[in-house]
Amino acid sequence: MITIDGSQGEGGGQILRTAVALAAIAGVPVKIERIRSRRLKPGLQRQHLAAVQAAAQVSGGSLEGAALGSSEIAFVPGKPRAGDYAFDIGTAGSTTLVLQTVLPILLGAAGPSTAIVRGGTHNSMAPPVEFIQESFLPALRSVGVVATLELLRHGFHSAGGGAIRVAVQPWENRAPLRLLERGKAVSRSADVLTSSLPAHVAAREAEALKHGLHWSRQDIASRVVPAHGPGNAIIARLRFEEVAAVFTAFGEIRKPAEQVAEECARQVRHYLEAEAPVCDHLADQLLLPLALGAGGVFRTRRPSLHTLTNASIIAAFLGPVVKMTEDGDKNWTVTVRGQR
Ligand code: ATP
Repeated sequence: MITIDGSQGEGGGQILRTAVALAAIAGVPVKIERIRSRRLKPGLQRQHLAAVQAAAQVSGGSLEGAALGSSEIAFVPGKPRAGDYAFDIGTAGSTTLVLQTVLPILLGAAGPSTAIVRGGTHNSMAPPVEFIQESFLPALRSVGVVATLELLRHGFHSAGGGAIRVAVQPWENRAPLRLLERGKAVSRSADVLTSSLPAHVAAREAEALKHGLHWSRQDIASRVVPAHGPGNAIIARLRFEEVAAVFTAFGEIRKPAEQVAEECARQVRHYLEAEAPVCDHLADQLLLPLALGAGGVFRTRRPSLHTLTNASIIAAFLGPVVKMTEDGDKNWTVTVRGQR
């Protein structure tokens, strides 16, 4: 049994999700201790609990200690098994982070699978659905992954009630990733999403985003979306020949609309300042699939603590397969040795 210290490095839920997914795929039992121990609300929260329970279900495994607030779990996996699954987080917890756990496992199953996940679809500190659809899955498609994600209903903090549906084929033709350049710029656009909020919120955000990025009004669309409760997110995307980057900022009670727009604009400008194609979030999320597939090489900015920590968890199962070197000029090259 491999033992993982859940408080190391970034110390968050990603340690748990990566460890459980790797255990399921490698068929190795894992114990995770001190789960999220330095967080304000430590231990397993609903989203984490749903993720480990989903991993157990799709791999026919068994869990010990998996309860709300638990700081330690043991997981004995079976084998990845295809099926049509449904997981309900029960709160506005992130559906895409549950997906992050089960997707790598279902890719290793013998047949096609589908999964519906209910909860939040646009949560701060988690990938929004558009990031998965437009940036993460297209990068995985280039390494042979066949998977689609559909947004069934928006879910915002704190009402939740959103749903996504994923369809996954077994990962047969595993190719290495090579993502060193962005290529030429193809398009740019942003969506200002609101649900049950006064119209001036979207109007002010669109205006502030336009100024913050020097974009034209036609680049920015405002959409009122149906959801259980109030919610607001800005999604900005930049498409290049080789990669798409998606940036998000979330509205909150008492956060001025102009501040939400500026948070989004700042991320876009930061990305454009360097040449690396892979943004911070995509970098940490690519490591696991690349390590399970045929590996690859990509350029990103200085690796985040999420990326460094994810690389250490992968190393606990597969050895030091992730190498990161500084190129100078604000860029880093990340090389991942794959399994096949
Ligand atoms: P905790 O509450 O313990 O901090 P968590 O389970 O909510 O953790 P993290 O461990 O922080 O989550 O992992 C968050 C994941 O979401 C990371 O893979 C990160 O890159 C990704 N992520 C966060 N914000 C975005 C965003 N705006 N776009 C894309 N991905 C994001």
